[in-house]
Amino acid sequence: MDPSAFELKVEVLFKGFRLEAPPTPSIDEPGAATIDAVSRKGGAGPAGGMFVVYEDKFQANVPIQDQMTRGSDLVINAVPTSGSFDVFKQHGGGKLDTYKTFWKVPPPSFYDELYLPKDRLGIWDGIPFRKIALVHGTDCVATTINQSCKYWRCGTQCDFCAIEESMRDGSTMPLKDPAALVAFTEKARAEKRVKHFTLTSGTQDGPDGGALEYVPFVEALKGNFKYPVHVQVAPVSKTEYLDKLYYAGVDNVGIHLETFPEANRRMHTPGKSEIPLKAFEKNWDYAVSLFGENQVESYLLVGLGETFLEFKGAVDLLVDHGVIPFVVPARPIKNTSFEKNKLGGHEELVQRYVHAAKRLHEQGLKPEKALAGCVRCGACSAIQEAARVVQQYP
Ligand code: SF4
Repeated sequence: MDPSAFELKVEVLFKGFRLEAPPTPSIDEPGAATIDAVSRKGGAGPAGGMFVVYEDKFQANVPIQDQMTRGSDLVINAVPTSGSFDVFKQHGGGKLDTYKTFWKVPPPSFYDELYLPKDRLGIWDGIPFRKIALVHGTDCVATTINQSCKYWRCGTQCDFCAIEESMRDGSTMPLKDPAALVAFTEKARAEKRVKHFTLTSGTQDGPDGGALEYVPFVEALKGNFKYPVHVQVAPVSKTEYLDKLYYAGVDNVGIHLETFPEANRRMHTPGKSEIPLKAFEKNWDYAVSLFGENQVESYLLVGLGETFLEFKGAVDLLVDHGVIPFVVPARPIKNTSFEKNKLGGHEELVQRYVHAAKRLHEQGLKPEKALAGCVRCGACSAIQEAARVVQQYP
């Protein structure tokens, strides 16, 4: 891995691309779109980005919403829909120099087609495929199977999360359907846009936290395709729920701590922080014994006010349990209360990635061996690139 490509990925993930002038698609930029047309406004995980590829080096989910890119010196003059485009660097006095050329990952062609359930042909309006799932990056079919979250109901949701926003704006279905996801995947396969799955969900009431809701989806996918599946769960109260996911066919699992230490958990994830750390540790250990080495990950957000020392503590905690820290810069997503990433600059983020990658290397963990999910996709994090640099230059 070229170290400068790793640093470039960290830079674009942290700064985002700032739109210098509003696009005027019909007048001077025939290939241009609006920010909302290419980035999802809400939903689980890092929303508000656009998928790009840099040479043959990496793919990235680059922030483009206004509130994420204020102050960014990386500038685009139109939002691309597909193909290559230039990013400019802005210097003092406003002077722009061409910086790098990226390639915009195009959306699949079938997003606006309608899905009609076979048993209800003629009595139903049909659902646009884009409301069933999305292709993240080049080849990850991703969906939120249950868009509601118990913490939103009592106002204790994580302050960086927009999972329920996409229900409010009508851009998705509140509950997904396994047969519809199979139909979406058949379409994606025809366009060579699927190699693995990421399934996520809000946290639900009950001892399984919603984990068992994945089972019919995983069984449907595994019954029709050979692609590996990743699911994301809150710590469960009985390990038998993880067994059920394993026997349904799940290959890789995310059990997300989100942030650390406890004071940060309480501040940024008030509802989820009621789950004791011990429950995470028990779930991680059991999941590693079940799904295997390199198949358990945890999102670890950076820029929520944690010090470098606290970040190191979080990485130690995860790596010591055999969990891959999926290090992601926190973004201020619209309509959430998290307003600004608190890191001083992308150089600090580079240091954090290098530290996490060194600890992974010491522990013999390899993100590139993840079979499915966010670690395999890697668009939202530079942990894979950092790991490759550290493996090459230990
Ligand atoms: S890493 Fe990939 S699969 Fe995961 S949320 Fe980001 S884009 Fe989606």
